[in-house]
Amino acid sequence: MGTDRVIFHCDCNSFYASVELLSHPELRDSPVAVCGDPKSRHGIILAKNEPAKAMGVKTAETIWQARQKCPDLVLLPPHHDRYGVYSRQINAIYYRFTDLIEPFGIDESWVRP
Ligand SMILES: [Mg+2]
Repeated sequence: MGTDRVIFHCDCNSFYASVELLSHPELRDSPVAVCGDPKSRHGIILAKNEPAKAMGVKTAETIWQARQKCPDLVLLPPHHDRYGVYSRQINAIYYRFTDLIEPFGIDESWVRP
């Protein structure tokens, strides 16, 4: 198989949670989820870090469901503007290696070496 047949799918794990934790390094080892407004009916889990994942917290479930499994879950609000900034920085790293990059969503890209 030649390298012209190789395409990487690069997907950042826990992307929103990882970006938020840059502002809260003290929470890195605690279960953390990024979620919509807990007071609104749209309060669902948008992302979670590894400790929250280990407690069974899942993306797209309600905050209420997540708290049943993980009472100590720390909830952080999303900052969508920051995700775009980091998404561009991550793609800039890929561009050091190739021009053949197709971003696919905020935290994923197709990359052909
Ligand atoms: Mg991802």
